[in-house]
Amino acid sequence: MTQTFQCTACGAPNQPEAGLMYMLCTYCGTNLTIPESLRIKSMPRVEKSFTKAETTRPIEVEAADILRKSQPIAIRAWNLFAAWTWLRWLIPTCLTIFIVLCVGFVIVLFVFS
Ligand SMILES: [Zn+2]
Repeated sequence: MTQTFQCTACGAPNQPEAGLMYMLCTYCGTNLTIPESLRIKSMPRVEKSFTKAETTRPIEVEAADILRKSQPIAIRAWNLFAAWTWLRWLIPTCLTIFIVLCVGFVIVLFVFS
């Protein structure tokens, strides 16, 4: 019986590795936390050392967690930047269209008067 869980970054199914709490996505390499219900218990002695590692929280795991939490902020910043560049393009385009319409209107007025 093998259960899979989805990668938080790419959504690919991953098989939890025995005795591990954290693993890398086999598709994109993202640090993944294996869901508690899917953690495969290995030998009791090894399991004990893992629960100890959980309480001390190694810096590598902490850094990966921080990176994962900062991902939505980075995406929002990028979206804001994209909207800004789009606005910078939109405003001059609107002005140009407006000016062309005005000139066209004046020409039409002159022609028909
Ligand atoms: Zn992935």
